[in-house]
Amino acid sequence: MTSTSEYKALEAKYYMQIVNRRPMVLVRAEGTRVFDNDGKSYLDFTAGWAVLNIGHSHPAVVKAVQEQAGLINQMSNLFYTTPQLKLAQILIDNSCMDRIFFCNSGAEANEGVSKLARKWGKLKLNDAYEIITMNNSFHGRTMAMMAATGQAAYQEKWLPLMPGFVNVDYNDIDAIKAATNDMTCAVMVEPVQGEGGVNVPDDGYLRQIQDWCNEKNIMFIVDEVQTGMGRLGKLFGYQLYGVEPDAMTLAKALGAGAPLGAFLCKEEFSVLEPGDHGSTFGGNALTTASGAAAAEVIVDEDIPSQAAATGAYVTGKLIALREKYDFITDVRGPGLLIGIEMTKEIAPDVVTEAESNGLLLNAIRPTILRLMPPLNVSRDEVDEALEILDKALEKVTD
Ligand SMILES: *Cc1c(COP(=O)(O)O)cnc(C)c1O
Repeated sequence: MTSTSEYKALEAKYYMQIVNRRPMVLVRAEGTRVFDNDGKSYLDFTAGWAVLNIGHSHPAVVKAVQEQAGLINQMSNLFYTTPQLKLAQILIDNSCMDRIFFCNSGAEANEGVSKLARKWGKLKLNDAYEIITMNNSFHGRTMAMMAATGQAAYQEKWLPLMPGFVNVDYNDIDAIKAATNDMTCAVMVEPVQGEGGVNVPDDGYLRQIQDWCNEKNIMFIVDEVQTGMGRLGKLFGYQLYGVEPDAMTLAKALGAGAPLGAFLCKEEFSVLEPGDHGSTFGGNALTTASGAAAAEVIVDEDIPSQAAATGAYVTGKLIALREKYDFITDVRGPGLLIGIEMTKEIAPDVVTEAESNGLLLNAIRPTILRLMPPLNVSRDEVDEALEILDKALEKVTD
């Protein structure tokens, strides 16, 4: 077996150096815990990047993938296959959507829904093609999604950007109204901005967007790549805010670890025809077997309610921590997508310190920590994690 130092040397030799990797080599995972090659365990409060909503290696998912791997993995979408249909049914029966297209990632789902919106604009709005998105959003890293993602860091090295995206401030309905013109075909927004710093919508903001889109006959799209599949305490984030989008995108938790994305829309907006779009792997039998098994658990066991209850528990404990650390200025986010904002730029050091004590966290900004554990994380695991976090905060600010 390759040792950690050998592994690092090989990584340095072979890979494009585009990530500052954490120091350990992870080899196994179960539930909320991951294990490195020395047998040390970590509580994973990143959940494989908001992917393992029912935990690592959930038995239902493992069984479904093992069984499917022995049956049939991949065919072209030219043929009917089964687990895909099961997952489609669960998603549509439990949302306001009528139709779905499966792809492989979040960026691809947003690309697809952008094509859908442009076709809508072409057919119904006199060739309108512009999509309004928000500053501090994150929609993926493809050429078009860099233009959709309203963050300079994701854009400025790759100018010129793809045309057709306009970035305006989040939580500012007037900015959306001012940016809307004859060329506008859609507004796309995350119900809660994830990568942008766990930014929550003001009361009524999403409803105002919906009303504006209805008034202008433009599409109201929610990017639920991070917020979907229970993360915010409802199966889909929009359900928390009493709105009904015209279309939504999913990925991250959708495949429960298998690369799977999707975009969905209401019947009225389902304007793509044969030849308009496609994907070789999208929704293949193996990935949708994984996704369908996970979605069944999430719905049948009401995992979103667990996320809501555990989220309130975590937030309550974090607010208590504020008493001790006055540099914590905000604890925010519904369900189990939680941001901790601080006045000190210590988030990366807190992550390193917590990690050495067995807890994986994310520093989303130098001043913001993000917690996104599996939604079925136990109270004992939460208590253990918050104890490690407390110690890390103490050590780093000592
Ligand atoms: C992660 C993320 C994406 C991109 O998903 P990929 O699968 O990495 O392409 C898009 N939108 C949101 C809201 C995300 O959190």
